[in-house]
Amino acid sequence: MDLLLFGPPGAGKGTQAKFLVDLLGIPQISTGDMMRAERKSGSDLGKQFDEYMSAGKLVPDGLVLDLMLKRLTQADAKNGAIFDGYPRTVDQAESLDALLGQLERRIDRVVSLDVQLDAIVERVTGRRVCLDCGQTYHVRYSPPPQNGECTSCRGTQIVQRSDDTEEVVRKRYEEYKAKTEPVLAHYEEKGVVQRVEGVGSLEEITERIKEAIGVE
Ligand code: AMP
Repeated sequence: MDLLLFGPPGAGKGTQAKFLVDLLGIPQISTGDMMRAERKSGSDLGKQFDEYMSAGKLVPDGLVLDLMLKRLTQADAKNGAIFDGYPRTVDQAESLDALLGQLERRIDRVVSLDVQLDAIVERVTGRRVCLDCGQTYHVRYSPPPQNGECTSCRGTQIVQRSDDTEEVVRKRYEEYKAKTEPVLAHYEEKGVVQRVEGVGSLEEITERIKEAIGVE
């Protein structure tokens, strides 16, 4: 199955994708995570990503497509993937459809997580992330351990992402409204969109997603 988790930045796509990986046996493909890894490596490409990411702007479509071409041809993604944070423009959606078409695949389901801006600001500014494994925490709802050690990998660098400040969150939301929301209409025309209320406990939201995609 090729599943697209859709919604504004901070809707919980990444968190939910991690639960679904085990359940569906297909990998999560997060362009944001891939870009952060590239940025961390200090490569020239990573520096280009950083310029856009730290300003809350979208990385140009051409650069994103190069990343995706490499990722989709890796063995673990041959039976499907959970796309998280991609596609973020209608152009990206059209390129993805073409790419999947060449592999005789298509986006089977789009789950759109509905969350309002004020809830997003609260979630994102409270988010903390382990630099080693990507495990996320929230200062209020799932605080990082007091001893500072990540519960997943025991890494000790649990930090706030540089683009998780209120100013950047608002900028990212504007980008979402202007450029990303139209992607939903693109897939609505294909009749594959399911809307899911994105507010509630993690477990409740996972259950709603499972119901939406017809998985036990
Ligand atoms: P995320 O982790 O998905 O919230 O992405 C963090 C940042 O990475 C975004 O604000 C963008 O600057 C960049 N980014 C991630 N995915 C994409 C994409 N598909 N297209 C353009 N920019 C992206």
